[in-house]
Amino acid sequence: MRFARRAAIVVVAVVAAVLALTRIPRPTPLARSPAERLGLDRWHASDTLGQGESLVALLARRGLEAADAAMAVQSLHGLVDDRRIPAGLQVNVHGDTASARATDVELLLNDDKVIRLHRDGEVWTATEEIIPWVTDTLVVRGAVHTNLYDAVDEAGGAFLSKGARTQLAWEIADVYEYRVDMSRDLQDGDSVRVLFERATNPSNVNRIGRILAAGLERGGQEITAVRFVHPDGKAEYFDEKGKSLRASFLRAPLSFRRISSVFGRRKHPILGIWRQHAGTDYSAASGTPVRSIGDGVVIYAGRKGGYGNVLEIRHRNGFVTRYGHLRGFAKGIRRGTSVTQGQTVAYVGMTGLATGPHLHFEVLVNGVQRNPSTALRQSAAVALGGRERAAFDSVARVALAELGRAPGVMLAP
Ligand SMILES: [Zn+2]
Repeated sequence: MRFARRAAIVVVAVVAAVLALTRIPRPTPLARSPAERLGLDRWHASDTLGQGESLVALLARRGLEAADAAMAVQSLHGLVDDRRIPAGLQVNVHGDTASARATDVELLLNDDKVIRLHRDGEVWTATEEIIPWVTDTLVVRGAVHTNLYDAVDEAGGAFLSKGARTQLAWEIADVYEYRVDMSRDLQDGDSVRVLFERATNPSNVNRIGRILAAGLERGGQEITAVRFVHPDGKAEYFDEKGKSLRASFLRAPLSFRRISSVFGRRKHPILGIWRQHAGTDYSAASGTPVRSIGDGVVIYAGRKGGYGNVLEIRHRNGFVTRYGHLRGFAKGIRRGTSVTQGQTVAYVGMTGLATGPHLHFEVLVNGVQRNPSTALRQSAAVALGGRERAAFDSVARVALAELGRAPGVMLAP
């Protein structure tokens, strides 16, 4: 009875609101010419600032008279130093078709900021606009057929702009960089799921925020990852048992995002005995940074036969890593130098017996070459304890429940 009365009140309120809305006089739209409606009364041009080119020169190239262009740039004073605008900056110019003159210029400074120049008569004014990005959280699940890119590209197609799909694949690879070499450890039938933050701007361009949780299933076994922030503010990924995903070694000497451009061109012709070698080859562009997979000390940095320029690093527990065909070494890298995990130590090249730029990578344990994918599979994982463990468990419970939902945007509970 009480419910019925309350429902009746709600219905009356809704009807009253609808009536009130319909009685509000709507402004009649201004009559627009056919040209206006088709957008033909305005012209638009998009351009990119060249190396060493001034903004005045670009605007002149886009049809502004020299004095007009100079005044437009002068209006920037106080907002941005036009001498410091980087090459590659996107500049949009708009004008009236009737007068053929430019009336508006947009400088797309970065993802977050646009400067708009507008001409009123002969006077240009500049305003700065902060682009609003809206963030939400979503789940994406992908099946691996060939590689991580294809899996994320297919799974994220409905939710993410193209660049953001690539970024998501990179971020996932980073989460698992101590556990999985994404360029060679995945196989058809593996799968990935991820809970993450997506930012969207007014042009529907997305970018990836934080990865909150992920699951990577290989050969029927899933490695889960849950983001947890320590009291000191540092974020780290843990599995569902509270064990860190970190380990003493990164699983690959090249960052996944740096070998993306040559994905699928991994196999390359190699000479003679190099076809039999016990190492792992990574195709990558010449000059790609090579990172030390663990903390250690350089024991060799120089030329050595078919290896060309080669770097050897000694780590703890009898491990040595070897990086061959290098174009050169990073600054300060020589015998005796201490290096830390992830530090750039050299650059990919094709010195020695190599027919194309690639990194030759070896793991030796007590002097014997070992298969990196098994030799590096040792987890030095520290489990969270005490109060941190309790805090992690409650974070993990929520994150893993969200991760288990169907793909799409997560609504707040
Ligand atoms: Zn090799």
